[in-house]
Amino acid sequence: MNKIQILVAEDDAPVRNLISTILKAHDYHFMTAASGEEAVMNAASHNPDVMLLDLGLPDIDGVEVIRRIRTWSNMPIIVISARSEDSDKIDALDAGADDYLTKPFSVDELLARIRVTQRRLALMQSPNGEDSVYQNGQLRIDFVSGCAYIDEEELHLTPIEYRLLCLLARNTGRVLTHKYILQNVWGSSFENDVNTLRVFMAMLRKKLGSGPNGPQYIQTHIGIGYRMIKVQ
Ligand code: CA
Repeated sequence: MNKIQILVAEDDAPVRNLISTILKAHDYHFMTAASGEEAVMNAASHNPDVMLLDLGLPDIDGVEVIRRIRTWSNMPIIVISARSEDSDKIDALDAGADDYLTKPFSVDELLARIRVTQRRLALMQSPNGEDSVYQNGQLRIDFVSGCAYIDEEELHLTPIEYRLLCLLARNTGRVLTHKYILQNVWGSSFENDVNTLRVFMAMLRKKLGSGPNGPQYIQTHIGIGYRMIKVQ
């Protein structure tokens, strides 16, 4: 298997060593950074495939690290943080993080998140042979370029939001259960993580932002899941 290069940004040496040991044991290439500045510098000079990022860093905050990296890179960023409030998650996701893991985390959980990222990287590199453009009301998705638009204006979606949108769009009219969505976007080890799905769905809807008079593309089926509806 073609292993990816991972950048680990964590100031707490025992945690950094733990993550390094896990990655080494699973044959991942990795490098580390013990501060925010070092993380940004390593990201710029080594161009890793994935970044594991602690939010509480001694110099600049992890959210600021994400913001800086997002000015020039779309590399997947998985936040690993002791902060478990929804607002912290949303701040990190708003800044452009792709996924969020709360400390303490299990080894299996960390590896699963990395695998999901790998699958997604592979998916983004090989578009399949379906219709290359999806149109629904003002919403247009160009699967080949990996861009989505509302009213010809490009939406700035994180990779996870983009996958969510594509999954819903490819199943327009069908109610997709929480479990189905989680399995297909995050991987089977997250099939019960409905709160994460809610957070991402709220972000996606905000970005689709159809306004008070505009169409609602995504319908909620309470306790069941979501459905993309065909709008006029
Ligand atoms: Ca820390």
